[in-house]
Amino acid sequence: MKAILAAGSIALITAGAFAQERYELPAEQAETARMLIDQALESDLAWDIVESLTTEVGPRLGGSEAEARARQWGADLGEELGFDRVVIEEFSMPYWERGDMEITMNAPYTQALYGTALGGSGRSPRLRPISSDIVYFRTVDDLMAAEDGSLEGRIAFVDGEPIVRSITGAGYGPANIRRRVGWQHAERAGADALVVRSVGSDIRRFPHTGMMSSDSAGDWADIPVIAVSNPDADHIRRLHELGEDINFTIRSTAGWRGEVTSGNVVLDIVGRENPEEIVLIGGHLDSWDLGTGAVDDGAGVAITVAAAELIRRLPQRPRRTIRVVMFGAEEVGLLGARAYAAQHAAEVPNHVLATESDFGAGRIWQFVSNVNEDANPVIDAIGRELAPLGVLRGGSNVPGGGPDIIPLAFAGVPTVRLNQDGTDYFDLHHTPDDTLDKIDPEQLRQNVAAWAAMVYLAAELDVEFRPTPDAASE
Ligand SMILES: [Zn+2]
Repeated sequence: MKAILAAGSIALITAGAFAQERYELPAEQAETARMLIDQALESDLAWDIVESLTTEVGPRLGGSEAEARARQWGADLGEELGFDRVVIEEFSMPYWERGDMEITMNAPYTQALYGTALGGSGRSPRLRPISSDIVYFRTVDDLMAAEDGSLEGRIAFVDGEPIVRSITGAGYGPANIRRRVGWQHAERAGADALVVRSVGSDIRRFPHTGMMSSDSAGDWADIPVIAVSNPDADHIRRLHELGEDINFTIRSTAGWRGEVTSGNVVLDIVGRENPEEIVLIGGHLDSWDLGTGAVDDGAGVAITVAAAELIRRLPQRPRRTIRVVMFGAEEVGLLGARAYAAQHAAEVPNHVLATESDFGAGRIWQFVSNVNEDANPVIDAIGRELAPLGVLRGGSNVPGGGPDIIPLAFAGVPTVRLNQDGTDYFDLHHTPDDTLDKIDPEQLRQNVAAWAAMVYLAAELDVEFRPTPDAASE
């Protein structure tokens, strides 16, 4: 069928009751996309970028001095590679710092636990240790049912289960509830502190940090809120099932440190025909402070910058502008993403497509989209170019695009996503174990290949991904 269709043509194929137009890429663009794939599969550029970021900058918590160094690193990289425009766009944000923490079990015997404060945690009173018996809750729902004042003088411990590993990371959202809102119920019930099982799929003694949610008034925890490793939580569960009284000592100096400056780094390849139309890609520049943020999300920054750079080296610029955004302060509440959408509100309607790489560095296995349905045949044609890389065409109405794309997607920007194999992502996520050695260079090259071909075609082809104004008003 494909062989008898002229390049660039549209033909009707009927499938059951539905008629679906089939679109064939123009030969020249298809050839360029294949050339980009070949080049990416031979290129170590993404590896060099993520190695440089994780080694020369290191951990880079949103709002920290390290994140400011990362911005300068990102702008220097953009200049060095020869992007057409390189801008640091600052915004201000409240800064939370981890400080020091200790957590020890004192009864039924003494044992050090492996824990870390959650983002937004409070400190122990006068920065001194608290020693209290724990009240064990099997699930966060059980803690939510605790009566007001019923945990005075106690430490709440919320168990749960390790996340079940999966390619999509599907178990993360539900497991995350104890991390996000558990503190609000512990505080309401009068607890001295809250300790939760880490939200992770590994059986290492690494705690997983991550941001909590503020309450409906916008307030944060006054009490220490600590996640312990899965094996530590297993241990506490077994002691509880033996009927033992369990006592913890906790000391934390975590807290808010006032308003600071963060920012996004914006690198543009200016389009040759429609420079005002923007295909936005990127990753987030900040990381949690325990590891060096290699898979979350140094890899995403490296993949998208490297893909854009391969396109920049073509003999001519694509029709549209390709914009790589290194978002700031993602981990601590999508603050860079919100700032970007606010600062660029006037040109949001010119963003024709947006997507982020923020799920590690595993092989891409699926391409999903959420664009004007008339553009689906073109997305399908792009998908066919990715098939030799082992990428399957997934759903055509899957909202998303990545965490930092949420504000743009809400404002009506079409999205696509190159889904990575996240089977081991939540082993490493937000732990001290998120380091460069976890990235497989060959899988990283496969990512860059898929991104380079997809982004080039999205920026080059004459296709509207946004609904036309008429269609939108119907
Ligand atoms: Zn991330």
